[in-house]
Amino acid sequence: MLLIPCPHCGVRPETEFVYGGDATVRRPDPKTASLDAWAAYIYERDNPKGPHTELWLHASGCHSWLVVERDTVTHAIGQVRQARDAAS
Ligand SMILES: [Zn+2]
Repeated sequence: MLLIPCPHCGVRPETEFVYGGDATVRRPDPKTASLDAWAAYIYERDNPKGPHTELWLHASGCHSWLVVERDTVTHAIGQVRQARDAAS
């Protein structure tokens, strides 16, 4: 089981969190994006082996969205920060 260190609640089991997807995907500009760009945004994701930047919601805790650095091979958790801080 993964143990994710929430900045507010401390180290918690993954069962308290909901995976929110790849944190590096950016929404296309609605004024200029093509249909192909929208299709890629909605359906296409990488499946990396190794370090991955992910969104996790602490659903059974503080309800914060977090950006978690996780290795998909070892499941080692690296840096964890608030998503609102990571977006700026
Ligand atoms: Zn929390």
